[in-house]
Amino acid sequence: EILKSLTIDGLRFPRKLYINLAENGYPVYFGEKVALKAGEFLKEKVTGKKILIVSQENIFGLYGKTLEESLTKEGFKTDVFFLPQGEVAKSMEYILQLYDKAIEFGLRRHDTVMAFGGGVVGDATGFFAATYLRGINFVQVPTTLLSMVDSSVGGKVGINLPQGKNLVGAFYQPKVVLIDTTYLKTLPRREVLAGLAEIYKAFLIAEESLAGWLSGVNLDKLRSRDWQRIIKAAVKIKAKVVSLDEREEGLRAVLNLGHTIGHAIEGVNGFSGILHGEAVALGILWEAKLSKDLGYLREEEWEKIREFIEKNYAYLKLSLNPDSLLVFMDKDKKNREDIAFMLLKKIGEYPENVEIKREWLQKWLTLNFS
Ligand code: NAD
Ligand code: MG
Repeated sequence: EILKSLTIDGLRFPRKLYINLAENGYPVYFGEKVALKAGEFLKEKVTGKKILIVSQENIFGLYGKTLEESLTKEGFKTDVFFLPQGEVAKSMEYILQLYDKAIEFGLRRHDTVMAFGGGVVGDATGFFAATYLRGINFVQVPTTLLSMVDSSVGGKVGINLPQGKNLVGAFYQPKVVLIDTTYLKTLPRREVLAGLAEIYKAFLIAEESLAGWLSGVNLDKLRSRDWQRIIKAAVKIKAKVVSLDEREEGLRAVLNLGHTIGHAIEGVNGFSGILHGEAVALGILWEAKLSKDLGYLREEEWEKIREFIEKNYAYLKLSLNPDSLLVFMDKDKKNREDIAFMLLKKIGEYPENVEIKREWLQKWLTLNFS
């Protein structure tokens, strides 16, 4: 089996990856039940004795007690704060509640806050961690596939404003990330597919053999060990990009493949009804088509991408209006004069930032989406 023998950059898959950043490097540990070792890992890293766990009731209901016990067993004193479901949790309202909770719990400078949940919990908790007492120890225990491969690594934390998503935030790296695949067993299928889209994106920009391998995989037959390998490979790609460009001054933008159109699709749907990862899957499809139409990507490679997306995301039946898509693309944060895309030239190689004239894009969208 290809994945078993697979090595990346000559390294066999280790149980741990180290995210290399000048002063803020940190380890990411992988494995079943690895989160239950949080207390052991933290004892070496932090001097404070208190840990505030931030989670959501459903997740904590499933896995919280054992996690909490593993911390108290190591001598930590814990308390729990629940965020609501969805993007509303990433708002100042709940950050203020978190500050209150932290003060009431007596959380001090050398203590720790742990994000135990998906990307929503991770982003909001990270923002709290970055700002409370000018920054306290932060640990990520991601529980969704998307947060395992994407949001828990890289240090982007933040909240939303009524005017838009992720408009307030910081770069704030965790002390440690614990990726425990046990949690995936209860994750709804759509959430799995949303994470898969970001994994496929990572493979498309950096690992041709893995992108090809993933196309042939039966998702329902994947075991926990397979997931561990896939997740490690995706994290490794993200880690490499992030370590070369922590604050997205250049290279990190390659991670935006599929995101110009993906964000527009989310926008058209009012950021509800379609998950971010699902929108990215469609974004990958259409940006690959755009790459092909502009002569960047070879026809056969576009066909491979189309097959993968159609096979896994056929259930997403959307009617997309070209003009409304363009309204959202106009607002893309990456834009300068024209509309910025990361276009693929070859599967397995970093895509290139290309700016496309609005008028040309409008015609292309009309041709493809009418
Ligand atoms: P999410 O956090 O909303 O989680 C999805 C749903 O799954 C929630 O209802 C959650 O309660 C539930 N859930 C979580 N773990 C579960 C489990 N193990 N079993 C059953 N249910 C579980 O969604 P997400 O996709 O993880 O994260 C999306 C967020 O991440 C967005 O706000 C996005 O902006 C952010 N994000 C941030 C970055 C970054 O770099 N910081 C990157 C990508 C995405
Ligand atoms: Mg994304």
